[in-house]
Amino acid sequence: MEIKLKSKPKEIADFSDTALMITWDEGHESLYIYEDLRQACPCARCNELRKSTKTGKLPFKRAIPLETKSANIKPKAIEAVGLYAIRFKWNDGHDTGIYTFDFLRKLCTCEQCQPV
Ligand SMILES: [Zn+2]
Ligand SMILES: [Zn+2]
Repeated sequence: MEIKLKSKPKEIADFSDTALMITWDEGHESLYIYEDLRQACPCARCNELRKSTKTGKLPFKRAIPLETKSANIKPKAIEAVGLYAIRFKWNDGHDTGIYTFDFLRKLCTCEQCQPV
């Protein structure tokens, strides 16, 4: 099977303790808050969890105890999944979400991508 990618990252790098920067090969830069990325986890379990809450958000802050003292959700590791996605190993122990590049590209919150 051939996967045609619309979006490919040129670089994926820590921007700060709470955010990730992805530079796409078309030159666009996207900044993602780790907590938002964790919240957007596309795995089946998180999809179910989101449906079951009134807010449509994951209750991960209370439901999943954080390993670290820091309240910040962030990845302990980021792994490549094939040539089309990355997987985060979150510090709350969750690691089943596969974030495809096309999915991440659409998540970009900048003014250009999400006009108000
Ligand atoms: Zn998940
Ligand atoms: Zn953007």
